[in-house]
Amino acid sequence: MSASTPEFLRSLPKTELHCHFASTIRPERLLRWARERGVPLPSDDPAELARYTGLQDFLVLFNAAHAVFRSGEDVALVAYEGVRAAVATTNLRYREYSVNPHNFAELGLPWPVVLAGLVEGLTRAEEEFGVGFGIVPALNRSLDLAAAHATLDVVLANPHPAVVGFGQDDLAADGYESPLAWEPVYARARAAGLRLTAHVGEIATSTAASVVEAVEVLHLDRVDHGYHVLDDPAVVERARAAGVHFCCTPKSAHLLSGWAFDAQHPVARMIEAGLSVNLSTDDEVFFATSLQAEFEHVGLDLGFGDDVVEQLALNGVTASFAPEDVKARLRAEIRALRGGPPG
Ligand SMILES: [Zn+2]
Repeated sequence: MSASTPEFLRSLPKTELHCHFASTIRPERLLRWARERGVPLPSDDPAELARYTGLQDFLVLFNAAHAVFRSGEDVALVAYEGVRAAVATTNLRYREYSVNPHNFAELGLPWPVVLAGLVEGLTRAEEEFGVGFGIVPALNRSLDLAAAHATLDVVLANPHPAVVGFGQDDLAADGYESPLAWEPVYARARAAGLRLTAHVGEIATSTAASVVEAVEVLHLDRVDHGYHVLDDPAVVERARAAGVHFCCTPKSAHLLSGWAFDAQHPVARMIEAGLSVNLSTDDEVFFATSLQAEFEHVGLDLGFGDDVVEQLALNGVTASFAPEDVKARLRAEIRALRGGPPG
């Protein structure tokens, strides 16, 4: 197998599924608004922003970044600029955004305002660049179950065709993922017709068993991260047999967990194990990454060839919450790149 090429990796039509909206803000805009609006950041150098000692360290910055938003117009502008920047470097075709209604409400931006801003900015980008989108509101894991129910309440009170799923961000103060704690909220979201995702198997305190337990108990449609599934070969086999989809973020795993870009990187091992892996940035501005960079980590640094990378792109389509006609079109675009059958 020979490694892919930057040209192929750029041209490949891509779907991104694990993308926290606040982190799609352009570095220049984040720094400018922070300066103008009196929001303290750890550094005014974009490269320095991406230096962390761990997830908790990172989350301080993630939460500070929400504080630069002042209006629905700001949300629309960031949404539009994020897509424009992505298509300038890679062939992004569809993206789903994790958005935390609680964090914005704390700033005086209620969910209907945020949702309207997202739809406005992302629709403008879709018209201009042809990039489709879905919105996945997230509960805040640093808060309690009542707060998570309240977040879901406000989401369900404002239905919109673009709101396709429900997920989570941040982390409990004890540093444990504890995915099953959210079971009652996930059950309600599922009953309301939302598709489900959760951050599990990301950090050192998580176990392989907790990943599949979360999938089964919460009825997840896909998993964000999931790396610690690798700690138990029997669980890997269970996940593979069940067709669990893993939305992996190679650069954030490298920065937060110290995995080098070699054969031991969990994304490399998960691909080798035959799991359904797709690629995302997680937090573009804070990990100084891009979707193109994530594909280059796999296609160049980890050395996987065009066949494998094409399959990752197809996995992203399958794991997305897009309508079936959109999925069929995206698959046809991917297969057409190498002259394959369009079906
Ligand atoms: Zn994430």
